[in-house]
Amino acid sequence: MHAFLNVKKSAEVSDVFWDVTEEAGLFDVVVKGLGDGEHRAIDDGREFINMSSYSYLGLDTHPKLVRAAADAVLAEGALNTSTSRMRVRFESLRNAEEALSGLLDAEVVTVASCAAAAWAALPLVASGLFTDGEPPLMVFDRNAHFCLNAMKPSVADEAEVTTVRHNDVEALEELCKQHKRVAYVADGVYSTGGQAPVRELLRLQEKYGLFLFFDEAHGISTVGERGRGVVLSEMGEINDRTLIITSLNKGFGASGGAVLLGPRGSARRRTLAIRNGGPIMWSQRINTAGLGAVLASVELHKTEELTDLQRRLQENIALFDSHITTEQHGDGLPIRHVNLGDEGATVRLAQRLFEEGFYSSPIFFPVIGRGKAGLRLMLRANMQKADVDRFCLLLKKWRDQLG
Ligand SMILES: *Cc1c(COP(=O)(O)O)cnc(C)c1O
Repeated sequence: MHAFLNVKKSAEVSDVFWDVTEEAGLFDVVVKGLGDGEHRAIDDGREFINMSSYSYLGLDTHPKLVRAAADAVLAEGALNTSTSRMRVRFESLRNAEEALSGLLDAEVVTVASCAAAAWAALPLVASGLFTDGEPPLMVFDRNAHFCLNAMKPSVADEAEVTTVRHNDVEALEELCKQHKRVAYVADGVYSTGGQAPVRELLRLQEKYGLFLFFDEAHGISTVGERGRGVVLSEMGEINDRTLIITSLNKGFGASGGAVLLGPRGSARRRTLAIRNGGPIMWSQRINTAGLGAVLASVELHKTEELTDLQRRLQENIALFDSHITTEQHGDGLPIRHVNLGDEGATVRLAQRLFEEGFYSSPIFFPVIGRGKAGLRLMLRANMQKADVDRFCLLLKKWRDQLG
């Protein structure tokens, strides 16, 4: 027991911090959306800017996406087919998957979220169905997202599982030398900051046939031509030794998750996923409203507007970096971890910022390593420069007072 997970222990560890967060009024804030990452709290009417929203391009409130979602559900007259998609599906589901496949140049199947995509895809890879029928040694990066780690017990029932230190390419190469088949499971962009060493990993793939499994929840839309993310930007086109899952709830601004199964036209993989991919077989499809938004977002990804939003995002990232130095400084990604070390200080700082109209997420062990409690900040294209400036100045002033 507890070879991979221990929910009771994790709950005990994190409870303390969640209690403090809740007491500080930073937990379960019920709001009305005001657009552009701004909210009004229902309970006290306070208006604030969300400094920890993962809608990096502001697409979640883009009028075109919102309108497309409403139109799609009204046009279909139903949210779901109310039967497994394997048997009967709406045309909008086929259209959305074809549109995503075209945009990303990959064979794409969709599901209700990125977490459901992990549930669907990891056991398939572990089973050996994507690696010539032989289960690979499944190597997880220690910092891989919770939704990947949570699958370890089920992955371990199909294949041998091991975990390496964060971004430890050397350790991974050793394992590639010792094992005929290896699959590496990692985030493209880590939710607590930083990214996978994609180029190095591709070198191992070239040399040893390493299978790569990436979670691009924060990479897709955010960076790369037409929002292709950090992995596809480096790879060019996806190959048959790579599988990528992503969220369509974050930068993409719509709803759902997607599995990039391999190169476009990988019909066998598609069939395997549809027939054996756990949640893909149940009611975990994106509903009609979400599909409408997905289609509108794909269209928007092909326009100059996307490039423009990515540029504005980069300007806000650079502006933040000009004020505050973090480990992620200069990496061109929107996630910044301001390490404060102390959990109490972190919550007090977040509380003071909230009083000034800025919501920021305190994070702590086990979301981040012990002793690295701090604020997780996420820059967006639709933040005003004056707001970024004011936020940074307050953060700097109070952080220094804490120190
Ligand atoms: C948020 C997140 C997920 C989960 O995405 P959902 O679409 O909300 O299920 C997966 N991986 C990473 C790295 C994330 O940050």
